[in-house]
Amino acid sequence: QAKITGRNRYHFFDADLDEQVRTHHNRRTEVRTALLDGELRLYYQPKLDMRKARIVGMEALLRWQHPLRGVVGPGDFLPIVEHSDVIVDIGEWVLREALRQLQDWRAFDARWVISVNIAARHFQRADFVERLTAILAEFPDVPPDMLELEILESSALSDIAHVRSIMLDCQALGISFALDDFGTGYSSMSYLKRLPADMLKIDQSFVRNMLVDRDDLHLVSAVIGLAKSFGLGVIAEGVETMEHGAMLMRLGCDLVQGYGIARPMPADEVLAWVASFDTAAMWQAAAQLPPI
Ligand code: C2E
Ligand code: MG
Ligand code: MG
Ligand code: MG
Repeated sequence: QAKITGRNRYHFFDADLDEQVRTHHNRRTEVRTALLDGELRLYYQPKLDMRKARIVGMEALLRWQHPLRGVVGPGDFLPIVEHSDVIVDIGEWVLREALRQLQDWRAFDARWVISVNIAARHFQRADFVERLTAILAEFPDVPPDMLELEILESSALSDIAHVRSIMLDCQALGISFALDDFGTGYSSMSYLKRLPADMLKIDQSFVRNMLVDRDDLHLVSAVIGLAKSFGLGVIAEGVETMEHGAMLMRLGCDLVQGYGIARPMPADEVLAWVASFDTAAMWQAAAQLPPI
């Protein structure tokens, strides 16, 4: 690499930065256009109550049906827009689409809860509750207590008092809250004390190896205990096999979600999947689990 003078270096980096800004701007525009052109989709992943052998609801997970690249996951495009208001437009689209879908599904099972992930920037907007109230009003057949919002602990980092008050306002409407990826943040314990959550969602990184890693098993068990002692619900994500599910049930966590039950799927596949879901495999796995 050629040695460059301070002055040239300045110009070099300036041009480079300019290029980066332009690229970022283009990519953001691309995502916004995807929303406007109707290329975004919601996939749904079932949440299973193992003890009751019942599907209790669905988590809505965003996908970009890209005309050339195929199905693109949220990790590949949400970070591009999470610091702009595009994330708010997308979040409102997701809320509407999920509520509309739940409205359809209510004829099939009126007890299903729909879970929607909400980005920190969207959630912390001054008009969040007002706009959410308006969106809910568009779906008079869906009671607000059928909507659960999943927020990351890190959503609360900037202003915990503000986040707390938004949560309380939403809860007054009937909406409930799950703390997503619980245990991965730096201050899970302090959030637990200060945020009025209804549910803890045990992060998949702890669940994945719990059958082979004693430490992870103890962590999962501790989070379940924590949830219970705070009077909260608890769900495990990343449940990749029925053996994981069976162990979680034994530890007292009945709600599970993961590839072992079902992968996220397009809305039009959900009812056929539910009809074909075989609880026998679940009980078999539970029966075959060795003692702890
Ligand atoms: P999350 O909310 O923690 O969702 C769980 C992620 O794990 C999903 O990835 C899901 O497809 C995946 N997953 C589910 N079961 C398993 C399993 O058994 N094994 C493994 N290895 N993975 C599993 P996905 O759909 O790519 O979403 C990634 C993240 O993007 C989500 O994490 C959530 O934070 C965010 N996200 C998804 N949809 C939305 C949305 O509509 N709005 C916002 N703001 N964020 C979203
Ligand atoms: Mg989630
Ligand atoms: Mg999660
Ligand atoms: Mg996550």
